[in-house]
Amino acid sequence: MIITPEGVVLKAPTESELASVVGLSVAPESDFYDLIVVGGGPAGLGAAVYGASEGLRTVLVEREATGGQAGQSSRIENYLGFPNGVSGGQLADRARRQARKFGAEMLLARDVVALEAHGSKRVLRFDDGSSIAAHAVVLATGVSYRSLGVDGADGLTGRGVYYGSAMTEAAECADQKVYIVGGANSAGQAAVFFARYARSVHLLVRGPSLEASMSHYLVEQLAAIENVHVHTCTTVAEAHGADHLEELTLQDAVTGERSTHPASRLLVFIGGAPRTNWLDGVVVRDERGFIPTGPGLLEDGRRPHGWTLDRDPYFLESSVPGVFVAGDVRAESVKRVASAVGEGAMAVTLVHRYLGER
Ligand SMILES: Cc1cc2nc3c(=O)[nH]c(=O)nc-3n(C[C@H](O)[C@H](O)[C@H](O)COP(=O)(O)OP(=O)(O)OC[C@H]3O[C@@H](n4cnc5c(N)ncnc54)[C@H](O)[C@@H]3O)c2cc1C
Repeated sequence: MIITPEGVVLKAPTESELASVVGLSVAPESDFYDLIVVGGGPAGLGAAVYGASEGLRTVLVEREATGGQAGQSSRIENYLGFPNGVSGGQLADRARRQARKFGAEMLLARDVVALEAHGSKRVLRFDDGSSIAAHAVVLATGVSYRSLGVDGADGLTGRGVYYGSAMTEAAECADQKVYIVGGANSAGQAAVFFARYARSVHLLVRGPSLEASMSHYLVEQLAAIENVHVHTCTTVAEAHGADHLEELTLQDAVTGERSTHPASRLLVFIGGAPRTNWLDGVVVRDERGFIPTGPGLLEDGRRPHGWTLDRDPYFLESSVPGVFVAGDVRAESVKRVASAVGEGAMAVTLVHRYLGER
């Protein structure tokens, strides 16, 4: 239940209902735009900033709140221009304000569930059946966390088992042992962050070393923190607990030997998968759900099935003309904030080229 400062009582509101009550925009101002950007992570925010600043009537639609995966990062240290690092939340907030300054409209807590191409019009449908249309679309829907998929973990999600950094949990971790699963930068950042609060942090890595999957600077930072312990060749086999996580069973990935340990916090960073089923039958996707673009769509020089234009798809263009793709959801993309922002900007340049030729 949520009670607003004005005394309005909301019982189990949907995210849209909540967003509208706290003053976030959930209804479009128009039914037709030059450009619709789907997704409010770094790639979508990049596209919105460049689209709006270059004179396109631009709307960004985001299922939750702006920031995407980057919004979960406690400290991004490798983004150009921030020598002391920047939290994902700060970066997203600045980008959102920058996009608004240039006139981009933001629709938050709205889930896009379908894309249709009617002649030159690209129509996007929301989960409540309503729709908006545009000349061009940038899909920047990123990836969502993959589930850990071990016995007992699903039922304890949010009660000791968390996906992403769950930074709000940090204060609760004082004097506790925190387990983190994952060997990539996101897991390393979380370990550095939680080491400031917890008694000890145990990083569980499936592979034989961190070097292959984590940036060198983070591996060095972790080695220098006394209460961080890295367990290589280790996986989570089971999670136990009645109302909250109580124990974890860990497995040696080489010998298969298992051991059970008391545990109250498990943070999971095992990468993500794109959620692009809603594009099935409309936009070509690869076997993992990522969206190929440009040269990635050409088979032996042949253009994708149904392609109608007398040119190859542009570098970031999908199998539907005028529908561009930026960031982590794009097949073969580099999974970094800088490249997501860069692709958002580049997609807008290609949108101009597409609009110009029409
Ligand atoms: C904890 C963590 C730390 C990281 N640290 C770093 C780092 O230090 N440096 C670095 O370079 N990279 C880092 N990364 C990776 C980086 O955050 C990603 O590469 C980047 O966020 C990708 O941006 P994106 O916009 O493509 O997708 P995302 O960030 O995944 O954003 C996609 C957005 O689209 C929305 N969306 C999805 N489907 C729909 C739909 N149907 N309708 C409406 N909205 C939708 C989602 O809600 C989400 O907000 C980190 C990632 C994580 C998880």
